[in-house]
Amino acid sequence: MSIKERLNSIKQKLPEQVQLVAVSKTKPIEDIKTAYETGQRIFGENKIQEMTQKWEVLPKDIEWHMIGHVQRNKVKYMAPYVTLIHGIDSLRLLKEVNKQALKNNRVIKCLLQIHIAEEASKFGFSTEEVLELITGEEFTALQNIKIVGLMGMATFTENNDQVRREFQQLKSVFEKVKQEIPHVEILSMGMSGDYHIAIDEGSTMVRIGSSIFGSRNSH
Ligand SMILES: *Cc1c(COP(=O)(O)O)cnc(C)c1O
Repeated sequence: MSIKERLNSIKQKLPEQVQLVAVSKTKPIEDIKTAYETGQRIFGENKIQEMTQKWEVLPKDIEWHMIGHVQRNKVKYMAPYVTLIHGIDSLRLLKEVNKQALKNNRVIKCLLQIHIAEEASKFGFSTEEVLELITGEEFTALQNIKIVGLMGMATFTENNDQVRREFQQLKSVFEKVKQEIPHVEILSMGMSGDYHIAIDEGSTMVRIGSSIFGSRNSH
């Protein structure tokens, strides 16, 4: 199947309330153009430099989502244009995004990343940490960021029950955060291997790469 066929078949099956982030990391400009021609406008990247190079040459109505781990010293390169940052995992990072957003006279939308996987390697806040963050004074003072939801990644495992439990956990943190910040609406969970489970468990945004663009070479 071609990129267009794969993309269309995924889009047709997604429930109406679920947005699709087409994860184009490591993939060439041509592949993004092909996806764009089908009407896809949201693309996800995990390296700021790569995303910026693509943003420069591609149509300006594309929404660029930073889905990877963010280094603070690189926030300035995406601050002028990024639509949504999925991987906020510390107050220090949030402050830097706020600072760069202010410089660009923008309010940048962000998701707080929650650590739900068993793997220690994955980034994110615990439930306690995220609740402490959003009720703190320092957080409330940040005027140029807007928290619009949460993001999480399940453990990379064949065990679907475990994946489901982890997504359920994320959903329950989402409900708690919603009590503090009523406008949160995005629950970013689900990738090529697990997005069906994620949607069952309440995802509103899936991040799909290899099922659209084919497998990646190591990055
Ligand atoms: C690469 C990546 C994806 C997409 O992964 P696929 O398995 O190719 O769909 C989704 N989310 C994050 C955070 C990623 O880094």
